Amino acid sequence: MKQYGFLGLGIMGTAMATNLVKGGYPVTVWNRSPGKTEELAAMGARVALSPAAVMAHCDITFAMLSDPAAARTVCFGDQGVLGAMTAGKGYVDFSTVDAATSLEIRTALIARGGRFLEAPVSGSKKPAEDGSLIILAAGDRSLYDEVLPCLEKLGKKILHLGAVGNGARMKIVVNLIMGGMMAALCEGLALGEKSQLNLVEILDVLDAGALGNPLFRLKGENIIADAYPAAFPLKHMQKDLRLAIDLGDELMQRLPCTAAVNELFKGARQAALGEEDFSSLFKTLRRP
Ligand code: NAP
Repeated sequence: MKQYGFLGLGIMGTAMATNLVKGGYPVTVWNRSPGKTEELAAMGARVALSPAAVMAHCDITFAMLSDPAAARTVCFGDQGVLGAMTAGKGYVDFSTVDAATSLEIRTALIARGGRFLEAPVSGSKKPAEDGSLIILAAGDRSLYDEVLPCLEKLGKKILHLGAVGNGARMKIVVNLIMGGMMAALCEGLALGEKSQLNLVEILDVLDAGALGNPLFRLKGENIIADAYPAAFPLKHMQKDLRLAIDLGDELMQRLPCTAAVNELFKGARQAALGEEDFSSLFKTLRRP
């Protein structure tokens, strides 16, 4: 029976690995902080002690890691997946990273006879739990066809976008837009609040017209409750804005709004909001 691995059991990885286990796949997991494997182990997953041990045991290994540095460490680092890659095995990286990181990982794994797909996802904690993510895959077509049944346990819309790099760039574009939307929502609500308007009524007005959308609805609830449990940690939103700015620099594309939005999110990280949901940006704007 084909064996599957999962590296990185954070907010998204835990939910996604859980859906694979519930889908009947034999899954071996690893996480840098070992305590996070307990939930999956209780559901029947095997636990391995390193990325290399997962890769050695499995035919296909998935990863969901925080950023480019983490993706590189898990691939190239001590006991990383690269050392255990052999001909025919597959590696599918769901992490949101830049195209250069993805391409470097692909090149190294292919040199060992392996196959690689980048597959960043759109959708947050709840869609990950519900198996309704949007999966932006790119890379080895044979691997894509092979893992499609697994991806169908994780997502409601699954795309193959061509060569490695296109998935990373698509994800960066989508999150640039999302960061801007969140900044606009928070600024508008902060101004409304200062103007003695009712936040619930502002959100109600937005929802009734062309500006209504699930993001405002969902994150509006956080703002009204003044509670920001991390679904999408603010530090990752700022990382994605940084990746967008880097891509804009590389392509000489002006991103004036994104540059300003990035500064807002950097400010929020300086205010120690990095681990809270990215909607906690509101807290930095509503201050007197
Ligand atoms: P998270 O909860 O912060 O989890 C990050 C994972 O990366 C953890 O397993 C963490 O291990 C691991 N990690 C970090 N640095 C590492 C390193 N140097 N070596 C090995 N492992 C390392 O993040 P998340 O929300 O699940 O997001 C994961 C990725 O998906 C990010 O790229 C994010 O941008 C993207 N994403 C997130 C969402 C969302 O709504 N949350 C939605 C779409 C995409 P430890 O447990 O040891 O810290």
